[in-house]
Amino acid sequence: MLDLYRPLLEKALFPAFEAVRGRPTVPLLRYLHGTERWSRSALRDLQAGFLRRLIRHAYLHTPYYRELLDQRGLRPEDFDSVDALARLPLLDRDTVRTSFDARTATAPPRWVIQKSTSGTTGEPVVVKYNAESRHWRDATRWRGYGWSGYRIGMRVLHYWGFGPPAGSWIARGKVALDRALKRDLYVDCTPRGEEALMSAAQQLRKFDPQVMVAYTAGAAALAKFVLEHELRTWKSFPVLVGAERLWPHERQLIEEAFGPVFETYGCREVMLIGSECEMHDGMHTSMETMIVELVVRDPDGTVRSARPGETGEVAITDLHNLACPMIRYVTGDLAVARDDAPCPCGRGLDRIGPIEGRVTETLRDGHGDAVGGLVFNILFGVLNHVARKFQVIQRLDGSVVMKVVPNGGDQLPEPELTKVHAFAAKYLPATPFNVEYVADIALSAAGKRKVVIVEKPAA
Ligand SMILES: [Zn+2]
Repeated sequence: MLDLYRPLLEKALFPAFEAVRGRPTVPLLRYLHGTERWSRSALRDLQAGFLRRLIRHAYLHTPYYRELLDQRGLRPEDFDSVDALARLPLLDRDTVRTSFDARTATAPPRWVIQKSTSGTTGEPVVVKYNAESRHWRDATRWRGYGWSGYRIGMRVLHYWGFGPPAGSWIARGKVALDRALKRDLYVDCTPRGEEALMSAAQQLRKFDPQVMVAYTAGAAALAKFVLEHELRTWKSFPVLVGAERLWPHERQLIEEAFGPVFETYGCREVMLIGSECEMHDGMHTSMETMIVELVVRDPDGTVRSARPGETGEVAITDLHNLACPMIRYVTGDLAVARDDAPCPCGRGLDRIGPIEGRVTETLRDGHGDAVGGLVFNILFGVLNHVARKFQVIQRLDGSVVMKVVPNGGDQLPEPELTKVHAFAAKYLPATPFNVEYVADIALSAAGKRKVVIVEKPAA
């Protein structure tokens, strides 16, 4: 087959591969600052080049994709454009779990990072990836965050949730050192009672951040508190929010309390998927790192692209993870598709959004203080090896039950169960808490599992 875009790929891909060598984040970042200004069609060509490399590698070196393509009579050469991706099925979370070994490549590059994640649906998955993928992720995040004015070395206030502490003092020491060097302050946004919010506001005032990175609902709660108590003494700074849906009234609160809001969308499986530019009109996707599709599964089983204005399921193809490929991975999130109209900022990167779903509820602890529900996602990620589905429900009487579908046997192993109860004691003090084992957890009407449910009295 005649390779029509080879000359472009030579110009586009070669510098990319060059940039990824050695200590790559800075050259890669420089590269991304160039590519973000490319035309949409040039970016599509770039994606097609990376895609073909990915599929060739996956076909040659993973049993899973070899079998998948063979079954469909496909060859790597058939993937000559991004649209050709539609020839492959979506990769749902169940398949991600069961195909983990069969998707692991038998040839280099080897995976260097493995992590588990709960995503937004309470169904943890394990991902692993190679060094190159990591460099792209890092550079892509700096690039996307940079649109807000965030620069490496700034004083950053992180206002989000924490998992259980790292196991050893070495690990803890290293984390502390990393944070000190990067001049970052971490404040847990999970407790949202008056006392916790006052403490967060005081830390903010003392630290005087140049930028804030926050869970959306946490930032909104703190903003509301700051405004109600007239605590603002600081100059405006950008606030990057993510992990949860951003509502317009929350954006307004955060802007008034802190400064301009930049919405971001990402997940631990692939990191930054999209982020807002200074136009604040949708999120530009990280096209050089991944292919972002918004798909609709019609009732007859066919899968098609969402039309502009329509909500679709987010499916991601991670272009640089050759070690354990994820092609058309369904993240569990929903996003609104947009047309191809260019953004006035001049960047050629596609836009998506708003993100739908991802609404986490706020629980109340035994003292009546608010607690951000997203913290449970962190716990679920940690328990990935022992359970496959989770849900947390706060009953009308205030008691909390955590439903669990164990991986094997009919309950969690003792050490993990102890961790769960310690976690509950920390984040939900004075709250009756139980673990309940179930065979499955049903989907809600929207087809999305709600990770945290807070029962409300009938109106
Ligand atoms: Zn833009």
